[in-house]
Amino acid sequence: MHINLKAFENIERSQGQDAAMYAAQCWIAEGRGEHGLESVYGLESVSAFESWEELEPPTARYVNTGETYSETIARMPDGTYELTTWGDVLETLEEQRAEEREETRCYECGSWYSNDDGPCHPGES
Ligand SMILES: [Zn+2]
Repeated sequence: MHINLKAFENIERSQGQDAAMYAAQCWIAEGRGEHGLESVYGLESVSAFESWEELEPPTARYVNTGETYSETIARMPDGTYELTTWGDVLETLEEQRAEEREETRCYECGSWYSNDDGPCHPGES
């Protein structure tokens, strides 16, 4: 299946990010992706910097298609559009954060700790 992801970047350039995300939503709703209309739940955001109240940059946006690893279109923080899943997007953002800030995500509580300080939960590797 072919999709011209550059088209979404062009829409964003001329009509803004919301218009491009709407176009991505329509593309999926019309069944040109793996999913049909019943699997489109709207637009959501994901970041490796999650707090209760807000998502901090770098933040990606994506069309919610129901499952963590169901196909969708995502707008990455650098402004490119990808045919991916939000689970993959989150992994990418977490890998970038881990590398840039030399941090590791605790699998027990989900918070990040500095590699210099060591795990926040003792006994964890
Ligand atoms: Zn922890």
